[in-house]
Amino acid sequence: AEEMLRKSEMLSIIGQLAAGVAHEIRNPLTSLKGFLHLLQSRYEDKPKYYDIMLSELNRIEHIVSEFLVLAKPHNVVFNLHDIRPMLEQIILLAETHAIMHDVQIVTKYDADLPPVRCEENQLKQVFLNLLKNAIEAMPDGGEVHVEVEREDNVVVVRFRDHGCGIPEDRLPKLGEPFFTTKEKGTGLGLMVSYKIINSLGGKITVKSKEREGSTFEVRLPVV
Ligand code: ADP
Ligand code: MG
Repeated sequence: AEEMLRKSEMLSIIGQLAAGVAHEIRNPLTSLKGFLHLLQSRYEDKPKYYDIMLSELNRIEHIVSEFLVLAKPHNVVFNLHDIRPMLEQIILLAETHAIMHDVQIVTKYDADLPPVRCEENQLKQVFLNLLKNAIEAMPDGGEVHVEVEREDNVVVVRFRDHGCGIPEDRLPKLGEPFFTTKEKGTGLGLMVSYKIINSLGGKITVKSKEREGSTFEVRLPVV
């Protein structure tokens, strides 16, 4: 048990640190990209290493985007928010990603959903990470279902795909930093998501079957 505690404490400290660093990297990154574009417009033929520099900067941007891209990690304010408009914004944000993977996003919302206590941008980050994973799990396209229900004193947000699924022996690895099976993955999305949902007193549950698909549920307490 002590070993487990040490591990979870360590992961939480790593998570905090990483989110802080990611946040601080954003502004210099934006300015670097801006100057790089300027460089291109100044030269007749673009410098030899231009494309490499741009693609490396895009890679950094992708890694940072798995974290809290909007909220300052040490300045988090919790308020009551409605889940539905947050999900609608995130689905809009993921639209291009979905189209590229030939995926349709199908939604279903219970009427009369209670608001939940959260930092809006953090919770949106979780929804975006889970939605992106569901889309990426379906290389041949198909439907991803996003469903929001109330179960007693819990709001359940469900992301259901019929993609590649996760083999049982790999389930315990989910949420470990840098665990990824994707060529261009970061293995940071779930770690960040688990950490955020834990801090809200909620939990993320996973059901998955290889070659059949996965269901990720975010369960949040109603106050
Ligand atoms: P990344 O998406 O960058 O790989 P994540 O932390 O978001 O990092 O996910 C870690 C791993 O968990 C993925 O590489 C994948 O193997 C597995 N995974 C997550 N969500 C799903 C899903 N919906 N279907 C199948 N595998 C998944
Ligand atoms: Mg991911």
